[in-house]
Amino acid sequence: MQIIEIYKSLQGESSYTGLPCVFVRLAGCNLRCTWCDSEYTFKGGQRLTIEEVEKEVKRLSPDGGLVEITGGEPLLQEREAVPLMERLLIAGYTVLLETSGERPLAQVPVGVVKIVAVKCPDSGEGHTFRIENLEALTTHDEVKFVVASRLDYDFARGFIRQHELSSRVSSVILSPAFRKDAAGTRDASHCLVDPQQLAEWMLADGLRTRLGLQIHKFIWEPSLKGV
Ligand code: SF4
Repeated sequence: MQIIEIYKSLQGESSYTGLPCVFVRLAGCNLRCTWCDSEYTFKGGQRLTIEEVEKEVKRLSPDGGLVEITGGEPLLQEREAVPLMERLLIAGYTVLLETSGERPLAQVPVGVVKIVAVKCPDSGEGHTFRIENLEALTTHDEVKFVVASRLDYDFARGFIRQHELSSRVSSVILSPAFRKDAAGTRDASHCLVDPQQLAEWMLADGLRTRLGLQIHKFIWEPSLKGV
């Protein structure tokens, strides 16, 4: 597998937020979101076997816990990512998979918690979610929308209602997009939509959604990698 980094930090953007988590970040992405904060994953990395990745996860978190398979787009390496996830489940880990939903999800082991980031229009990749992937979602999965504008919010609200997402998955998350060049202060000034504004839109519309803040960008300096 082509791996950018494996590290331990706190899970920052799901209903697992705040829990210790080992991140396995795979190289490569087929999208180019305008606010992407992971462009360093687009190329490079190190070739590791599935066994070597599993060994490093066990070294970082020998007593089980959370592991997140992320990228980039990890399902571009589905042939190796799927067996890795299966092995980690058997080893007793809670396995999260962060994906855009552009690649088919049907082969993802059912025990894996899929966190699917459906792209909104301002990402520049708003047309990319594969609609048949809705059928692969289960009640332990999560769907996330990164919102950069009112247009994005309206798209997310329409999608949530049209596909009755709140009853399909355990959490629907609306998260303000962060400026991709965010650096220095650790506060909401880097958000493209003020979290207060997003909260007020959600409450006014009575959405059963969760406001997500990328807490690692409030805990550590926002341009830091590997946290
Ligand atoms: S899918 Fe993720 S890694 Fe790929 S461009 Fe979008 S934000 Fe970046």
